[in-house]
Amino acid sequence: NTPLHELDPDVAAAVDAELVRQQSTLEMIASENFAPVAVMEAQGSVLTNKYAEGYPGRRYYGGCEHVDVVEQIAIDRIKALFGAEAANVQPHSGAQANAAAMFALLKPGDTIMGLNLAHGGHLTHGMKINFSGKLYNVVPYHVDGTGRVDMAEVERLAKETKPQLIVAGWSAYPRQLDFAAFRRIADEVGAYLMVDMAHFAGLVAAGLHPNPVPHAHVVTTTTHKTLGGPRGGVILSTQELAKKINSAVFPGQQGGPLEHVIAAKAVSFKVAASPEFKERQERTLEGAKILADRLVQPDVTEVGVSVLSGGTDVHLVLVDLRDSELDGQQAEDRLHEVGITVNRNAVPNDPRPPMVTSGLRIGTPALATRGFGAAEFTEVAEIIAAALKPEYDSEDLKARVTALAAKFPLYPSL
Ligand code: PLP
Repeated sequence: NTPLHELDPDVAAAVDAELVRQQSTLEMIASENFAPVAVMEAQGSVLTNKYAEGYPGRRYYGGCEHVDVVEQIAIDRIKALFGAEAANVQPHSGAQANAAAMFALLKPGDTIMGLNLAHGGHLTHGMKINFSGKLYNVVPYHVDGTGRVDMAEVERLAKETKPQLIVAGWSAYPRQLDFAAFRRIADEVGAYLMVDMAHFAGLVAAGLHPNPVPHAHVVTTTTHKTLGGPRGGVILSTQELAKKINSAVFPGQQGGPLEHVIAAKAVSFKVAASPEFKERQERTLEGAKILADRLVQPDVTEVGVSVLSGGTDVHLVLVDLRDSELDGQQAEDRLHEVGITVNRNAVPNDPRPPMVTSGLRIGTPALATRGFGAAEFTEVAEIIAAALKPEYDSEDLKARVTALAAKFPLYPSL
């Protein structure tokens, strides 16, 4: 029972350094967040030692009486949070959740439709070298010239290709999807509708984004993005599909569930049902709007910086650098230099190569969790606008970032 710092100083030093990085910089990767200490405590608990293949009350191992309690709490809480008939909380990640859901509903060679990766979709929605692209016949749909999902194209492609499954969801898209329209199209062609709400689940939980659950046959999510929990996945479904989904997760895709992570998921679902969580999601949305509004002002548009679709309805902004002398890599590096972490991102019909790109994806969930409100997001937006101009004062911007980080201490007890 030697503590980590004594047993393995090399790993401990890297963990310590990562804590300092998170504390001293501004985290704006749209898919990241800061899990509460209680979530990390549950994840670091003795539940890590337990094998529990199966489901609560139906396990293939003895000694599951306590993990059964934990898993059932997680299931009950997430069903209540989203109004779902059934939930599987065992997927190890969002990608695993999507794989299991597709495994349950499809057979190899079936046709699926998903948002093209370069237009904001996820790898698991049909990218060529992902399992989804290898197992299924993929018909991608796209955003139109205004940067919004082209529902006329979705309808036309669905009627032409008769998919077995339509995936609605995204990793890089600043607007809300019309779930009712997706369901109508799916019904017309006899397809299942699967919504991947990984990015916006926290907004849905807070009642600040339409809930896909009443519209979709299956809804998948990660638990670590806007939802703010441990890294992991969940599948919500109708009662009718629950058995198929459960057997696709175990034994179809996975062996033993990560009960320590499921405990942490349960804790985060409790947090997500609280008024504080809703208030935090409101600040998340407000911050993204402040940033989008700032990045369409003339002083930045005249140096070729703007925002895809002209704004945002969610927790992220997609910066369009097609007309800027900075490419996505240079802009990411520049923000990193002043202490802001973001990721470069391809824009639709990107003229630059995928490793370089002409865009940035900037999200507000982690800073909202840290406590940022309108005043701080306004200052962040000013810093980002200044950093993306040809002439910028790196030292001044870095000092302003450091001051903001210092004002909102992260994990002071660690
Ligand atoms: N689905 C969407 C929409 C995502 O954005 C992501 C992650 O980026 C995933 C699924 C996959 O989640 P994970 O990284 O946990 O496998």
